[in-house]
Amino acid sequence: MTAILIDGRAVAADLRASIATRIAAAGITPVLAVVLVGDDPASAVYVRSKDRAAHGVGMTARTIRLPASTAQPELMALVRSLNDDPEVDGILVQLPLPVGLDSTAVINAIDPAKDVDGLTPTNAGLLASGQPGLVPCTPLGSMKLLQASGTNLRGARAVVLGRSVLVGKPIAALLTAADATVTLAHSRTRDLAAECRRADVLVAAVGRPELVRADWIAPGAVVIDVGINRLADGRLVGDVATAECAEIASAITPVPGGVGPMTIACLLENTFTAAIRRRAR
Ligand code: NAD
Repeated sequence: MTAILIDGRAVAADLRASIATRIAAAGITPVLAVVLVGDDPASAVYVRSKDRAAHGVGMTARTIRLPASTAQPELMALVRSLNDDPEVDGILVQLPLPVGLDSTAVINAIDPAKDVDGLTPTNAGLLASGQPGLVPCTPLGSMKLLQASGTNLRGARAVVLGRSVLVGKPIAALLTAADATVTLAHSRTRDLAAECRRADVLVAAVGRPELVRADWIAPGAVVIDVGINRLADGRLVGDVATAECAEIASAITPVPGGVGPMTIACLLENTFTAAIRRRAR
């Protein structure tokens, strides 16, 4: 392997330590409310890690568990009550919601000032128009990894694979704001491999195991692999064939241990930001 492995666990640990220091210096205890509907085991694991991570930096995590049978009006009422609760700084509704619940309506009901996942149309609009808001956690974490790896984005050609509202689109907006020249590629893009080969920075967020192969990578490119895919044999792989691409790239994020740990750390960062902004108002 010739590429440097970008260590997301180490960068996330540094970020959590910095958040803990800033919380202590501010003399506050930010409160993060996490809403978990139903009993999806993967969601329960994520929520437990968020809870642990919040406590670890000196925040209070308030997890609200609701049964899968919860009706839409009940969930909307809960979100509104968290919006109105002066103690709550951040609200996160764990996705996906059980079938039958309208997640867009639920997300849209969150107070943008408490939207620590950065998913409300207000925060998406602020990001698109270059104004300060709350930025989705995985895109924010990916940018912090690029920064930690010392990648110069100004004038760089960046290709983002995947155009989801959660990952691809906000990453493209952040890279554009950082002066990269961005191509947003997706499932309808013609000749994906040729697009990727033009990239100084390649971000893969498609959810297709090891789609990106070595001959898609420009020599010396920096590769951020957002994908998390569980194979039939239980192995966890990204959207990038890491070992072979690492022979061509100059730096690459592993899966696991790359973008994943950054997502929760950035959730804490957003909760701290929301807490400080609310108290300043
Ligand atoms: P999504 O399904 O909402 O979007 C996938 C995008 O990829 C779509 O825009 C689609 O057009 C594109 N796409 C699908 N197949 C393609 C193909 N063959 N070629 C090119 N483009 C293709 O998924 P998402 O929520 O954006 O998540 C993407 C991946 O990132 C998933 O593996 C997910 O598990 C992972 N993820 C990781 C984290 C993390 O913390 N590391 C957070 C969120 C998502």
